[in-house]
Amino acid sequence: MDFTLTQDQKVFRNEIIRFAKKELNDGVIERDRKQEFPHDLWLKCGEMGLQGLPVPEEYGGVGLDPLSTALALEALGYGCEDGGLAFSICAHLLACVVPIWKHGNDEQKAKYLPKLANGSMIAVNAMSEPGSGSDAYAMKTRAVKDGDGYRINGTKIWSTNGPVADLAVVYAVTDAEKGYYGGITIFLVEKDTPGFSPGQKFEKMGLRTSPIGEIVLEDVWVPDSAMLGELGAGTLIFTQSMEWERVCIGAMHCGTMNRLMDKAIKYARRRESFGQKISKYQAVSHKIVDMKIRLEAARLLAYKAATRLDKARDVAIDASMTKVFISEALVQTALDTVQIFGGNGFTTDYQVERTLRDSIGGKIYSGTNEVQRNILAKWLGL
Ligand SMILES: Cc1cc2nc3c(=O)[nH]c(=O)nc-3n(C[C@H](O)[C@H](O)[C@H](O)COP(=O)(O)OP(=O)(O)OC[C@H]3O[C@@H](n4cnc5c(N)ncnc54)[C@H](O)[C@@H]3O)c2cc1C
Repeated sequence: MDFTLTQDQKVFRNEIIRFAKKELNDGVIERDRKQEFPHDLWLKCGEMGLQGLPVPEEYGGVGLDPLSTALALEALGYGCEDGGLAFSICAHLLACVVPIWKHGNDEQKAKYLPKLANGSMIAVNAMSEPGSGSDAYAMKTRAVKDGDGYRINGTKIWSTNGPVADLAVVYAVTDAEKGYYGGITIFLVEKDTPGFSPGQKFEKMGLRTSPIGEIVLEDVWVPDSAMLGELGAGTLIFTQSMEWERVCIGAMHCGTMNRLMDKAIKYARRRESFGQKISKYQAVSHKIVDMKIRLEAARLLAYKAATRLDKARDVAIDASMTKVFISEALVQTALDTVQIFGGNGFTTDYQVERTLRDSIGGKIYSGTNEVQRNILAKWLGL
C-alpha cells in the first residue's frame, strides 16, 4: 500500500498544525485544572472544518475521504495540546456526525449536518448506561411506540459532551426479545425536548476539558421522524460508528505520539547530567527510538484501516487492532516521555503529565482493550 501524501493532504495537514498551535493551546493548563470546556475554541475548530471533515460539502463539510480525515485528525493530535478538546471533537464527529451522515434521511441531514459540521451544534453519543458499558446492548433504556412517535425512558452515563450538547444520538431498546439482533434503535433527541436533561457531570483524571456526564430521559416523546436509520438498525449503525472512532482516534493519537517524541528529543538533547547530554545515554535514546518504531507501526495500522473504512464491508478487525495497539502505544510513549523529563515531567508546567493522564482513557473508551482482544480472539477462532 502506498501512503505517500497528496499535495492537498500535505497542505491541509500543515494548515491544521499551524492553526492548532496558534489558536488552541493558550491557557490549556488552567482549563485542565478547572475542567473548562473551551466553547470559543470549539467554534474556531468549526470554522476550520474539523467537526465536519468527511461530511459532503453540500451539507457544510470538507468532503474528505476517510484516509484524509484520519490524516487531518493526526495533524490535530500533533498541533493541539488540549487533548480534551481534540477528544470532544472526535466523539462528536465520529460517533454522532458520521452516523447521521451515513444513515440520516435527507431531512435529518439537511437539518443537522451543516450546524454539526460548523460547530454551532454539539452532539453527544448516548450509549453507555450505569449497568451496561462493555455489555452495551444490555441497556435498560426503552423506547415504546406512542402514537406517531416513541416515548423514551432511561439514563445514560459517561456521555462525552453530554453537559454541553444540543443533540443526543440516543440508543434504546425497541424490541427486548430481539435485543442485539434488531432490537436496538437510535433516536435523535434535541436538548429542549421535554423530559431530556444532562444530569450529573463527572470529574475525571484526564481529558478534563472534555465535559462528560449523564443523559437523563424521563418520558421523552419524539416523533417517528426522530428515528435514525430503520427500526432495529441501532446495532449495525453503532458498529460502523465505532469502526470510524477506533480508527480515526487512533490516527489522532499518532499525532500526539509524534508531538511527545519531538518533545522528548528536544529535551534529551538539551538536558545534561554527569557532564553530557542525556540523549547520549542509551537508556534514554533507546526509549526515544522505541517511540519512533511504535509511531511508524501505529501509522501503518491507522492508515490501512482508514483506507478500508468506506471500501470494505467489515472493518471491525482492522479497527480493533488499530485501537488496541495505538492506545497502548500512546500510554507507553507518554510514560516514557515523563520519565525522560525526570522531575520536570512530573510537574504540570512541562505539559507531558497531562498527556499521560489523557492517554489512559484511550484504553477504556470506544470499547475497552480487553473487549477488543475478545473480538480478535473470536476472529482467530479461539
Ligand atoms: C473518557 C471516556 C469517554 C467516554 N465517552 C462515552 C460516550 O461519549 N458515550 C458513551 O456511550 N460511552 C462513553 N464512555 C463509556 C465507555 O464506552 C465505557 O466506559 C466502556 O465501554 C467500558 O464500560 P464500563 O465503564 O461500564 O466498564 P465495564 O464494562 O464494567 O468493564 C470493567 C472492566 O471489566 C472488563 N471487562 C468487561 N467485560 C469483559 C469481558 N467480556 N472480557 C474481558 N474483560 C471484560 C473491562 O475491559 C474493564 O476492564 C466513555 C468512557 C470514557 C472513559
